[in-house]
Amino acid sequence: MDCRSLIGKLEAQRSLTRAEWSFLWSSYAAADRIYAAERAHRISCNIFGKKIYIRGIVEFSNCCKNDCFYCGIRKSNRLVARYNLSDEVIVECCRSGWENNIRTFVLQSGEVGSKAVEHICQLVQKLKKTFPGCAVTLSIGELSSSEYSALRQAGADRYLLRHESADEKHYSKLHPAYMKLKNRLECLENLHRIGFQTGCGVMLGSPFQNADTLAEDMVFMQNFKPEMIGVGPFIPHKDTPFKDHPAGTLEDTLFMISLCRIMHPEVLLPATTALGTLQQDGRLLGVLAGANVIMPNLTPQSVQENYNLYNNKLHTDSAVSVAIAQLQSSLASIGYSIAVGRGDFGE
Ligand code: SAH
Repeated sequence: MDCRSLIGKLEAQRSLTRAEWSFLWSSYAAADRIYAAERAHRISCNIFGKKIYIRGIVEFSNCCKNDCFYCGIRKSNRLVARYNLSDEVIVECCRSGWENNIRTFVLQSGEVGSKAVEHICQLVQKLKKTFPGCAVTLSIGELSSSEYSALRQAGADRYLLRHESADEKHYSKLHPAYMKLKNRLECLENLHRIGFQTGCGVMLGSPFQNADTLAEDMVFMQNFKPEMIGVGPFIPHKDTPFKDHPAGTLEDTLFMISLCRIMHPEVLLPATTALGTLQQDGRLLGVLAGANVIMPNLTPQSVQENYNLYNNKLHTDSAVSVAIAQLQSSLASIGYSIAVGRGDFGE
């Protein structure tokens, strides 16, 4: 088997064996990556046209009880000035997006666990009432099944929880001992069962990742059938245990995006901020490799520097309207435009 025929097989069958995935990740060359991007781009054009869904992200708190080795806002990083945005500020952030045709709001934060749930339920209800017809996505980490149910009942539509690695040994090298892959995967199962459009995903080039751990990720995503997949390069943060590890590459990240598109044609697949941090036109390259979502940042500029998950994370230095106009014109340079609407899975 060569890589190109494996990519063809993936397109025909939507799945590969673990051994095939492992071979593909260990053996692919630039030409295979370009071939996969062409196939993936064709698939996303057929399904979504040359339209990109946009989601406004509000990083509403950087407080976190977890200590993930890769993450700049981990508990042990004492150099971070911690913040919580008030509901009024969060609503105003969303309003700035709403006025610019953004119909999905992504609320992301560090992990504070159970005590945040009631407040976030109220916040979701408030957003749904203030912006009728909007979709709300949460990205607030691991919670119990009943807490996820409460958030769903409050009106949240989607949930992003990257699995980070489906290989148990690898997962344990990225997280403190009390964090278990089994628990993460249970959370993802619960989210699905409860009816969230659910997103998993990984960082490309995270420390100790290899072709075999990536094969595990592919097999997991193949079986789990997420509605969304978040894929970005690992980028070191200077105040974390992984500060001296190299960043993931643009090429590997784009290859992963393309493989995810070919495997799950309808999946919602963002060209992430981390991709744009790696290279200025990274997100456009992501679109050309099969991504169909971009997430403009609605977080107030005054706190964005305190939400640095990794070094040099892109900050918005202009009003939302200006940032959206810039996005529009950069998308136009590759023949794309912004889709107006919620952009649900399977729409
Ligand atoms: N606390 C929430 C959401 C915030 S982190 C959660 O854990 O789900 C969102 C994502 O940022 C993580 O899932 C991780 O994949 C990514 N991330 C964290 N640190 C990173 C780094 N150093 N480089 C690239 N991505 C990173």
